[in-house]
Amino acid sequence: MADGAFGLSKELAEETAPVWEKVKDHVTPLEWPEQARLISEINRLKRERDAVILAHNYMTPEIFHGVGDYVGDSLGLAKEAARSDAKVIVQAGVHFMAETSKILSPDKTVLIPDLRAGCSLASSITGADVRLIKERHPGLPVVTYVNTTADVKAETDICCTSANAVQVVEWAAKEWGVDKVILIPDEYLARNVAAQTTVGIIAWAGHCEVHKRFTTQDIADMRDAWPDAEVLAHPECPEEILRAADFAGSTAAMTEYVEKRRPKRVVLITECSMASNIKGDVPEVEFVGPCNLCPHMKRITLENIRDCLLHMQFEVTVPEDMLEKARLAVQRMIDLPPPSKPARYDLVKARHHVDVELI
Ligand code: SF4
Repeated sequence: MADGAFGLSKELAEETAPVWEKVKDHVTPLEWPEQARLISEINRLKRERDAVILAHNYMTPEIFHGVGDYVGDSLGLAKEAARSDAKVIVQAGVHFMAETSKILSPDKTVLIPDLRAGCSLASSITGADVRLIKERHPGLPVVTYVNTTADVKAETDICCTSANAVQVVEWAAKEWGVDKVILIPDEYLARNVAAQTTVGIIAWAGHCEVHKRFTTQDIADMRDAWPDAEVLAHPECPEEILRAADFAGSTAAMTEYVEKRRPKRVVLITECSMASNIKGDVPEVEFVGPCNLCPHMKRITLENIRDCLLHMQFEVTVPEDMLEKARLAVQRMIDLPPPSKPARYDLVKARHHVDVELI
């Protein structure tokens, strides 16, 4: 019976009102009734299936605020999933993230709503490539960004995220007793890490297709239009972008920066949905700037999350021997003491010449 807001039943309007408050700047009143119905249906299916939904920071706001049980970056999500008692994990993110969840929760059923949700970084390198790199640089530890397939993680000594990459590289150099480390596959992350440490870096020419699109002209245009805006950039961007920004750090560091400082205006140089999602929690901050969307992340929708739970599709598995090897690399990273504060990439203050050997 349609006696609630937006032509919804009173119960449904009340159930979904808190979500509407968080997404109303990004969802139109025309779109909302269908989204509200889907959110309610998904939350019911989750209970029936004993499932949790892991929603990455780059999901659209109606997924992030409407159905995500855990929200955050890929590793944070996988760790939460491992701690959860739920039998089923639905990865609202891309395929390598679902694999990471499976690696950390081998006994759970891991589902992804669209198997085509890939990643340009993850597909830039294979396990066979890593074996060749190791042949070329025997004795050097291999540090791999979590944005990689299980096949690549299985050839890795230790994984890292953008939040702990400097710490992991320095740990690996010390542990192996070497002054150089292989850090793959993101060339820009490797260059940005190299600016923060004296450990030599051997890198691979993989890129995130979203972060590589930003230009210094984008930042100059933003500063012209909004001189008081603070510019925050992700370390998957090229070095010159980080140098032009006021602050650079992982998605966790950017979120912390905005939540603690509450600047009047912010430009987030990262995937566009991140700004929409933080905005739900800090409505007084104005987010401006270029909007680059990840086409892979955007394959995940409320509709296919509903279908995923309804039909228990599409299951993500990892062969057992690969899973065991990959788990060692991920677990080694998890077992390191957490960084005392979210990583920031201070390129402006970097004192030495950035030297990266590209493979
Ligand atoms: S934003 Fe970049 S790194 Fe993240 S999934 Fe998309 S292509 Fe991959």
